[in-house]
Amino acid sequence: MNLIFLGAPGAGKGTLATLLSKEHGIPQISTGDLFRAAVKEGSKLGKQVQGIMEKGELVPDSLTVELVKERLSKPDAGGGYILDGFPRTIAQADALAEFQEIDVVINFSISDELVIRRLSGRRVCRSCGAIYHIENMPPKVEGTCDSCGGELYIRDDDKIDSIKNRLRVYKEQTEPLIAYYRDRGLLREIDSSETPEHSLAQIKSLLG
Ligand code: AMP
Repeated sequence: MNLIFLGAPGAGKGTLATLLSKEHGIPQISTGDLFRAAVKEGSKLGKQVQGIMEKGELVPDSLTVELVKERLSKPDAGGGYILDGFPRTIAQADALAEFQEIDVVINFSISDELVIRRLSGRRVCRSCGAIYHIENMPPKVEGTCDSCGGELYIRDDDKIDSIKNRLRVYKEQTEPLIAYYRDRGLLREIDSSETPEHSLAQIKSLLG
């Protein structure tokens, strides 16, 4: 099944994509993770996108679409995938439609207030990318990843000015995708303001 997870930053797309990807044995393809890996490697792409990401702006469509095209051409994406954080603009959605057939788009709905609370408390493992929250999903040992023992850090774009900018960018450029996919009959909605388990139950019942 080819899925898109749509929603504001902090809506829980990454957490749920990880859970569902394990259950269904299909890859989670997060453009944010791919860009962060490029920054960590110090590659040409990483250098191009680092400043953009820190400010919470969007990476240009051409670079993003190329990255996704390349990732989706790998064999593990042949049996289905979860796109997490892509597409984020109408142009990206149009480009995707030219080379992929999407089955379902799940929109994670959540208030701005909750987005701010979630993102400012988010901690990410520097080694394996696992996601925690200081209140809702704390690690067993503060500052340390439960799965791999890696160091937990605050993403540069999870600082308050950047969070506000990401929300503005989301409303201007990404929110129109809700109507885009609704018009194409692909949109399903979940309430993602509660626990990951609550979101997972809704997704499972939507997917049957
Ligand atoms: P995320 O981890 O999904 O919140 O993405 C982190 C950052 O990566 C975003 O704020 C953007 O700068 C960049 N990014 C991720 N996905 C996209 C996309 N589909 N289009 C443009 N920029 C993206």
